[in-house]
Amino acid sequence: MFFIRLRGIGVSPGIGMGEISLTERVLFTSRKESVPSSKIGEELIRVKKAVERTKDELLHLKREIREIMGEEHAFIFDAHLLILEDRSLFSTIEKIIREEKARAEWALTQVNKKYQELFDSIADDYFRQRKFDVSDVLTRIYGNLELKKKTKTDKNKAKRTILVAHELLPSEAGMRLSRGNVLAVAMDMGGPTSHTAILARSLNIPVVVGLHNVTQQVKNGDYLIIDGTNGEVIINPPLAVKKEFLSKKEKYDHYFRELMKTAKLKSVTQDEVKFFPLANIELPEEVSMAFSFGAEGIGLFRSEFIYFQRETLPTEEEHYSVYSRIAKAAYPSPVYIRTVDIGGEKSLPQLEIEKEPNPALGLRAIRLSLRNRDLFKVQLRAILRASSLKNVRVLIPMITELEEIGEVKLLFAEVKEELVKERVKFDHQIQLGAMIEVPAAAAITDILVKEVDYLSIGTNDLIQYYLAVDRSNEFVSYLYKPLHPSVLRLIKFVIQSALREGKDVTVCGEMAADPLSALILLGFGLRKFSMNPIFIPRIKKTLRSVELRTVEKLAEEALSLKTAQDIEEHIIERILAKHPKAFLMGQVI
Ligand code: PEP
Ligand code: MG
Repeated sequence: MFFIRLRGIGVSPGIGMGEISLTERVLFTSRKESVPSSKIGEELIRVKKAVERTKDELLHLKREIREIMGEEHAFIFDAHLLILEDRSLFSTIEKIIREEKARAEWALTQVNKKYQELFDSIADDYFRQRKFDVSDVLTRIYGNLELKKKTKTDKNKAKRTILVAHELLPSEAGMRLSRGNVLAVAMDMGGPTSHTAILARSLNIPVVVGLHNVTQQVKNGDYLIIDGTNGEVIINPPLAVKKEFLSKKEKYDHYFRELMKTAKLKSVTQDEVKFFPLANIELPEEVSMAFSFGAEGIGLFRSEFIYFQRETLPTEEEHYSVYSRIAKAAYPSPVYIRTVDIGGEKSLPQLEIEKEPNPALGLRAIRLSLRNRDLFKVQLRAILRASSLKNVRVLIPMITELEEIGEVKLLFAEVKEELVKERVKFDHQIQLGAMIEVPAAAAITDILVKEVDYLSIGTNDLIQYYLAVDRSNEFVSYLYKPLHPSVLRLIKFVIQSALREGKDVTVCGEMAADPLSALILLGFGLRKFSMNPIFIPRIKKTLRSVELRTVEKLAEEALSLKTAQDIEEHIIERILAKHPKAFLMGQVI
């Protein structure tokens, strides 16, 4: 039997199987229907009523999304409501109906085409993407030209289906995924850090993105398999393939259930040494999921995501609303809020940053914040205001030298003084920490650590800069080795320098989520492991299965070996012999 296999990027693990539901994007007409002059008035009234229904619909959705996901996700509907109020849009529709004596459907189709062409000609990528917003609004008006038959839609809502879309806007992703009727998602566009991917991971919904044209290969009623672990999509598979994936799915689901049991157990080694699994998150709504996976705090909130979701720079209130939601949701557990890590390739249209020849080594993170002090102060004020529950910490990314810490501390003191004058409540003992992700900073940890309250090791960048291997370049990824002896020596020095000063230290890069590396880190004295929440159960399972003295010895032995491969083999051999349970973690995720 004929079936299609597509390859994309798996961004949320697991397997979803079922019937498809296509997002009802752009169902415009290609057929021009004329109306006699006497009926033109009726067509104009149809458009007017459709606009009113669309307005009600958007207001309703705005309320719904605000309740489920909070204020910052509802803003997209304000943009849509504004488009709806644009007079020129409607005078164009009216003009086409009158001049061409055409039905409203045709007029809306023409207007949509015109706007899409107009947006396509804009050079700025961010503004070009806004065409989806205009198209969304016009699609809604189009759909509202006829009164909807409610019963059918309600029935569809209850059914659990596979969602296939060209792309989901942040608001759409939140709205559709949080209702509990989506089994899995496949999209033409998107990447691992897209809003849909992040949200889906937190809701445990398998997702494959970057499929280019999956929307054109499927129709309503098709049967789909989405393998979010391997990035595969299969359309209308034969029975044998269905059976194969059903058994994979059962295995994965069983594995997942087993891991989730671990999530509820105590985070202690065999000999009762306490460790802390923490979560790296990008959205406030990830907090509850992180805790359900066993997180004991938010070890890294990547605040740059606040900037990515807006057209203008976020205000202090917008920052504050996000931070306080996270702080409240995580309370009394700690929340480490990292100040923005943007610049370089993560540039923002809101900030006019010049293109740099070597962005990874350029005006990034704290370097950018110290160049835009007003912006930085807005963020520091908001973090401080959100700290009144006393569970918030500030984390500074990309520290390279001692002077930067001095500058940050001066600014921080200035902002605190302002708040005291304004009688605003905040945590006066709030801790300020530095990320160790630039090798130069790592090498002077013994000096830097004296100036901050705690450290967090960002191994993603630390390894990239130390080994001179671009973390996102697949041609050199074979050289990206967390177990490289030089990386281990450096990290040991950082951890032990912090511990010697009696300061807290966390690892918040992907290395903390790798079972073999986590064993060595535990052996070096690390107790705080912050990672993508989905990896917490497996790290917990690994660390719960060993005794501290075994991993301390293991870490010592690892440092005497010559290559990453020797180290990896040594860990496997040693741990397998002594603690076979540590390897029951499997590698399914
Ligand atoms: C890191 O560099 O390890 C880190 C956690 O930060 P990011 O991945 O956001 O650069
Ligand atoms: Mg980093």
